[in-house]
Amino acid sequence: MVSACLLGAHVKYCGGHNHHAAVSALKEKAILIPICPEQLGGLATPRPAAEIKGGSGEDVWNGTARVLTVTGEDRTEAFKHGAREAWLLAETLGAQAALLKARSPSCGHGEVYDGTFSGVKINGDGITAAFLLSKKLPVFSEDELAHCEKWLSTGES
Ligand code: SF4
Repeated sequence: MVSACLLGAHVKYCGGHNHHAAVSALKEKAILIPICPEQLGGLATPRPAAEIKGGSGEDVWNGTARVLTVTGEDRTEAFKHGAREAWLLAETLGAQAALLKARSPSCGHGEVYDGTFSGVKINGDGITAAFLLSKKLPVFSEDELAHCEKWLSTGES
């Protein structure tokens, strides 16, 4: 399962993409299932930028953090819905791992922006990444591509 924006789909909040040639090249080694959790959550493209305020994706699931747009609108439920839908597809299609866009409030793995829209990062996962990890699905970001490729070939990251 792969963040659709990494494959060049124009699903990013601004209507753009984050095409990553080496991620796309993984199609030679694995079946890639593109997903965009924010679109799966019912959000439009383009849409206002949003970040997690008060913690990381894990904190959103714990109820101690929220997803707010740059103008302060609460998008928490849409982001959670998108995460559940992503897991539904992963489970239904038998996904074996997720390779997701780094630092996104949905897809980030290991670090996300801090909710101030100033580029400051904190440790933690995005909301979808945290949910998939809670279901025991291995998650990698494009910054962890070498680990992902090792996992694909050996089952170890
Ligand atoms: S939610 Fe994930 S797949 Fe969708 S645009 Fe953001 S980073 Fe890309």
